[in-house]
Amino acid sequence: MMPESVLKAAQSEITDYRSSGMSVMEMSHRSKLFADIFAETKVKLKKALNVPDSHEILFLQGGATLQFAAIPLNLMGECGSASYAVTGNFSNLAAKEAEKYGKVSIACNSADRDHSYIPAQSELKIGSDAEYFYYCANNTIYGTEWHYVPDTKDIPLVCDMSSDILSKPVNVSDFGLIYAGAQKNMAPAGLTVVIIDKSLAGNELSVCPSVMSYDTLIKKDSMLNTPPCWCIYMLGLMLDWLESMGGVAGMESIKSARAAKLYDFLDNSKLFIPHAERGSRSDMNVTFRTGNDALDADFVRGASKHGLLNIKGHRLTGGMRASLYNAMPMEGVEALVGYMKQFEVEHNV
Ligand SMILES: *Cc1c(COP(=O)(O)O)cnc(C)c1O
Repeated sequence: MMPESVLKAAQSEITDYRSSGMSVMEMSHRSKLFADIFAETKVKLKKALNVPDSHEILFLQGGATLQFAAIPLNLMGECGSASYAVTGNFSNLAAKEAEKYGKVSIACNSADRDHSYIPAQSELKIGSDAEYFYYCANNTIYGTEWHYVPDTKDIPLVCDMSSDILSKPVNVSDFGLIYAGAQKNMAPAGLTVVIIDKSLAGNELSVCPSVMSYDTLIKKDSMLNTPPCWCIYMLGLMLDWLESMGGVAGMESIKSARAAKLYDFLDNSKLFIPHAERGSRSDMNVTFRTGNDALDADFVRGASKHGLLNIKGHRLTGGMRASLYNAMPMEGVEALVGYMKQFEVEHNV
């Protein structure tokens, strides 16, 4: 979901960007006009996340999935190893991809309870020889979220923040690398943001494609080839909106209140069952079910009639998922809870 004001702002200049006679979609990525959009967006993101000068921001293509490969190719080193926390679908895919390039040790795997929880720090088995420790901050499909930053001593932290970036403050200097596919909480699909500690770049495997080499991409300021120009422009508009809402701190207070409202209802419901265990619950993706697949399908059908869209759970899990990204207003959750109450009454609960 994107704020309507952002879509309207894009609409207002879609055919003619600031009297240039051109749409952003028509510009050369090497033009002064676009170079300014690019530089301003980078500054806005640096400010929003308080990115220190030790770290570089990259605007890339290929989605989060390309980073599943780029990370080991760049950071594992020849004959190296890495430690992965598997807490859901995407971290599992990332670990599988990394196995192609080096030794992967699994620090934890929450599959034993259907990825309904995040293991505690004391349960993480982090190999001391690991070149990096990898985890996914928010498990979009299962609806769990890490509520702590793992302590890995000197081992660089690599984090997939695709579905919770910009939803709360993070201390970027705690991380060797943060990355996110933009389409969940930042901008339209097609942009991937990487924030990397520059001291980690330059050790890529010799087979690493140039277009995936962080060292090369840093030197070329993300422009080894054409970056996703339109998405970068849209990210700039989103970041203006974010600032007007009090930045990431503002987002954090909104998201906590929004998710609490829904979890509170779920905890008191006799019909709906939340998937994630207490203490591991995601504020971004709230997953729940009735325990009856036919009833779940009824619920999803009825929801769309009430204008509550995209509420069907991921095909891996079934059930329902309410994605409460930054642009979701409190009224969205209130409307959902209202419909859930009505659904309970209709089913004599
Ligand atoms: C959606 C998602 C991905 C995959 O993103 P793509 O851009 O489609 O490759 C990876 N990780 C997380 C946490 C996601 O939510």
